[in-house]
Amino acid sequence: MTQPDHPQQPVQNAKIQWQDDTPISTEYGDVYFSKDNGVEETRYVFLQNNHLQSRWRSNSSSNSIYSGNSIYSNYSKNPASFTIAETGFGTGLNFLCAAQLWRQVNRAFEHLHFVSVEKFPLTRQQLHDALALHPEFSWIAKPLLQHYPPLVKGTHRLYFHEHRISLTLMFGDAHTCFQSLNGVVDAWFLDGFAPSKNPDMWQPQLFTQLARLSHGQTSFSTFTAAGVVKRGLQEAGFHVNKVPGYGRKRDMLAGHFNCGQEKPTHLPHHEKPWFQFHYKTQPHGKVAIVGAGIAGCSAARSLAHRGWQLDVYETQDSIASLGSGNPSGVTFVKPSIHDTAQNRYYQSAYFNATRAIRNLFEHHNMAEGEHWGLNGVIRLAYSEKEAAEQEALLASGVWPADAVQPLTTAQLEQEYNLTTACNGLLLKHGGWLNPPIYCQTLVQHPNIQVHTHRPVTNIQFTGTYETPFWQINDKEEYDAVVLACAFDCAEFELSQHFPLRSIRGQITYLPATEDSRHLAVPVNYDGYINPAHNGFHCVGATFTPKCNDSNELEEDHQWNLNQLRGVLPKLAQQLDDNQTHQGRVGFRCQTPDYLPIVGPAPDMEKCNTDYAPLGKGFLRNPFPINNSLPGLFLSIGHGSRGITSTHLAAEILASYICGDPQPIDQDVLEAIHPARFLIRNIIRRKC
Ligand code: SAM
Repeated sequence: MTQPDHPQQPVQNAKIQWQDDTPISTEYGDVYFSKDNGVEETRYVFLQNNHLQSRWRSNSSSNSIYSGNSIYSNYSKNPASFTIAETGFGTGLNFLCAAQLWRQVNRAFEHLHFVSVEKFPLTRQQLHDALALHPEFSWIAKPLLQHYPPLVKGTHRLYFHEHRISLTLMFGDAHTCFQSLNGVVDAWFLDGFAPSKNPDMWQPQLFTQLARLSHGQTSFSTFTAAGVVKRGLQEAGFHVNKVPGYGRKRDMLAGHFNCGQEKPTHLPHHEKPWFQFHYKTQPHGKVAIVGAGIAGCSAARSLAHRGWQLDVYETQDSIASLGSGNPSGVTFVKPSIHDTAQNRYYQSAYFNATRAIRNLFEHHNMAEGEHWGLNGVIRLAYSEKEAAEQEALLASGVWPADAVQPLTTAQLEQEYNLTTACNGLLLKHGGWLNPPIYCQTLVQHPNIQVHTHRPVTNIQFTGTYETPFWQINDKEEYDAVVLACAFDCAEFELSQHFPLRSIRGQITYLPATEDSRHLAVPVNYDGYINPAHNGFHCVGATFTPKCNDSNELEEDHQWNLNQLRGVLPKLAQQLDDNQTHQGRVGFRCQTPDYLPIVGPAPDMEKCNTDYAPLGKGFLRNPFPINNSLPGLFLSIGHGSRGITSTHLAAEILASYICGDPQPIDQDVLEAIHPARFLIRNIIRRKC
């Protein structure tokens, strides 16, 4: 696993030369697709030889294309989602062709996940030029271009909800990307340049990862018939056939995973068995979400998109009333050059959230500007340290120009009408929104029922490990429960043990002036000011641990104003009319390591028993895996970053629940895993 705290390497984009209508990589000296007919080649090599049309038409558990056992003893294939994974996204042609077939087939599956790794992604302009060759795919190529991420390392998930498709793009080397991927793959598109031109990719490590992510009915196909690929796949456990190739190619390979092994139940300690999870694709079910703040509403929406039914329970009279109740909030991240799990989580969360927020509001025809705006966030270089970090970031190139733009004081004055002594950065994707409206919009889906004024007082496990059932308030039964109720988790015996801290935060409302209404984007420093919404700017926010006073404090309003005066004195003077200040007090639910708690709830008793040897240094014997409470999940502790963090958290939970590919790497899943505090305590013998 890759987890070093070292500076990130910038992503290198593709180097392409065009020969007529064929893109050629100058790096590898090979074509992206056949000079004869790229579309027909893809249809034959990848779609036909993975039997996608017939598999999508029917439920493959009853109509399996292959004989042989699943590697998962408990694997049950149901028409929920289907996952294709590919080596080498390139121009996206394979994705477009698969999406086209998906659209045409009267299919039994709810959702198509397409995962693709790419070491040298095309720039947006290169992709635009390549997609322009295929106008027949414009229905999906247009949104693909619109949502195509900036070339920042890591995993980016794009949604095409109206077509029930998601695309997970992993920018990095195939070996590391697939090593860090979790979930279940149903079909492999083994693209990538020819083994003779790209021998580094076609290595045993790659085939080992393909096998790890495959099940007994996972198919593959590849344009090449090279011996190194054939042998590599066979050694990893695939059944390989040589079949006629496309066009001038005589042969190619296709086949399926052929391994009848059971999934391991124990793993050595260095594989961190306490964080491992048995992914299995699930039929649609019913989930109870406890808490209707941003975390709960986002989780509901992610599951609803996958065809699940949701009941969202809320103690208060309305949704988004406590921690998610500020009238205006920001989606924003502090970009870093350091490659840590924490940075990867928040950076990925930021890009995911900004795409998802735009998708959501546009889907519900809510015009930009009224309750939301995603035209950037300014981060001022308000201290020497911050200025040095911004300079280092820009010099490193790890965030390209389509993600961040430096702003001088003169540009801030001219372009944003902000008089300040600080330079800054524009984070181009970020923005602001009204959290209660965001929550109300998230739950506007036919699969979601919200029950306000309905406290959950009792959660009871009534099923078995294989078929979990949870009963809520001794009445309704669910396949899974998501606790998204911040501090209220402590009300339930099963989730009392999380080290949550309450951090008081106060914001100040300042009436907008004629001039200040033109502030188009949030400005972030060691506080923040948002664009005017309903006639007020929100200025925040204090950060006070160990204080449970819910009354507004004038000294806190003064603190907010002082921060503003420090960086934007002219604006502060305009806005502060010296009248009595008004604002709002909230309590952030924070963890000690400033990462949220997202994932399966650990079974405390089993963990304490099974992992006790860790505290005594007995590491020789393998440890049992998957000591979580089946079907119980958490999304809490998002602190002050809820708007940015909760969408990715929701996708992670949905992927655990549905057995989908995870939208983030395994190291990050471990860093946010609910069992992390418990395991640390066992190791330090604090239990
Ligand atoms: N599927 C693509 C399409 O539809 O346009 C064509 C892929 S092209 C033949 C091969 C792609 O694999 C290139 O984009 C290349 O950058 C990528 N690639 C090569 N080696 C790689 C590696 N080790 N990891 C990830 N991607 C790699």
